[in-house]
Amino acid sequence: MKSIALFPGSFDPFTNGHYDIAMRGAKLFDEVIIAIGNNSSKQRYIPVARMLEVIERIFKDQSNIKVQTFKGLTAEFAREAGARFLLRGLRNTTDFEYENTIAQANRHVNHDLETVFLITSPPLAAISSSIIREIHKYGGNVDDFIPFRFSEIADSATQ
Ligand code: ADP
Repeated sequence: MKSIALFPGSFDPFTNGHYDIAMRGAKLFDEVIIAIGNNSSKQRYIPVARMLEVIERIFKDQSNIKVQTFKGLTAEFAREAGARFLLRGLRNTTDFEYENTIAQANRHVNHDLETVFLITSPPLAAISSSIIREIHKYGGNVDDFIPFRFSEIADSATQ
């Protein structure tokens, strides 16, 4: 049976930290599906469709990394996608507190789902989508923190 891990997140935007987790996950599982949560009640900085295109391009040569968008419960989507694992990254104790709660909730919804955590690579520990949005909003260059050029999607960012 193929081992499929779902790597869910907002990815608003996708960062070098996310890239690292996806690539390391692809060595552990037969397939990693990066799943961009499309929660319409949440105002995004980069539209989902735009982020999807960019992430697909980043991984076009990685045959076992796929990208999808989803709505609704992550644990339900994992079941639909045939994923028995959820892949998440941990940077610090704040992430741990949050991830611990979510992992328990996800297992409640889908008993067969195991969340697997990868600890951040130290040089990437300080990277977060929210900091990138903040720097970009005030005109700073964020290209050192992302695996693409922000100018490719800048026109679609909510200013
Ligand atoms: P969410 O809104 O679901 O938290 P994010 O897009 O912020 O989604 O993050 C998705 C996952 O990636 C989370 O598990 C988060 O902890 C992890 N992550 C984010 N940044 C990093 C990083 N720099 N290193 C390792 N993991 C990270």
